[in-house]
Amino acid sequence: MASPGLSKLLRVGPGPVDLAAIDPRSTPGLPKKVGRDPKEWSRAAIAEIGVELFRQQEMLFASAKEHPEYRKRVLMVLQAMDCGGKDGTIKNVIGQLNPQGVHIVGFGKPTAEELSHPFLWRIKRALPAAGVVGVFNRSHYEDVLVVRVHELVPARTWGDRFGQINRFERQLVDEGYELVKVMLHISPDEQRKRLLERLEDPTKFWKYNPSDVDERSRWPDYQAAYADVLERCGPDHAPWYVVPADRKWYRNWAVANLLLEALGRLKLTYPPADFDSAEERRRLEGERQVNSS
Ligand code: AMP
Ligand code: MG
Repeated sequence: MASPGLSKLLRVGPGPVDLAAIDPRSTPGLPKKVGRDPKEWSRAAIAEIGVELFRQQEMLFASAKEHPEYRKRVLMVLQAMDCGGKDGTIKNVIGQLNPQGVHIVGFGKPTAEELSHPFLWRIKRALPAAGVVGVFNRSHYEDVLVVRVHELVPARTWGDRFGQINRFERQLVDEGYELVKVMLHISPDEQRKRLLERLEDPTKFWKYNPSDVDERSRWPDYQAAYADVLERCGPDHAPWYVVPADRKWYRNWAVANLLLEALGRLKLTYPPADFDSAEERRRLEGERQVNSS
């Protein structure tokens, strides 16, 4: 139940992007036959895709393990407004992979040390090794989003960052990275609903941040900042996907598909044996009993 064309449907930019024209409740590319319970359908579809994600990831991991010069790796960048579903996506989609080959890093408010370095410093330290699927829960894009909206640096400074980001990502791709940049697109109404849910459930208090309510008043500023990112930082080798994310079941299914497509583009194979397997079998079958004492 994978949908091979989803990356084409969800790609935005480069050039003018009208986020307001993308309905966060829409479900682009969804097969006709999802039945009466789309959530159940999505769970089954993701489990099925998950088997293939796992296999692809294993080939990637094995290739790097076998060849010290192997360069390929995946980097998924997740961006969203608060409550946009980054954590849920990681749990439901990335959770299908073998944890040994996954590297997940979240980026919050920079520490004093991080602030004393150029903004890409902490990003470069968090990059996945060859053979690994890296996931950024927020990313270098915060440095042209929250930083811009809150005027944490002069306009000139964040303005220069689009070019720096493009050069940085070009370099990553040249080094063997497959980038999957995803904006989870939610509506203000859905965000309000999710914030209220966090307030109603004591086990979710830890996710609630009073400043999220203040941030809501800056919604249009954030959408404008996001539109700029999508317009200016989405060349063919590092495109942006906007995933409508008001429906969690669609969001998970769509991101699983985007990741599967990315792994497919790497044309992975299992590394062949660097030994004679028939000869090895003969050796094992012909050996005398191994004394365990
Ligand atoms: P959360 O994802 O809920 O843990 O929140 C992380 C917070 O860190 C968000 O409010 C982000 O906007 C903020 N944040 C992330 N990166 C930066 C940055 N470079 N500068 C300032 N704030 C940031
Ligand atoms: Mg938060």
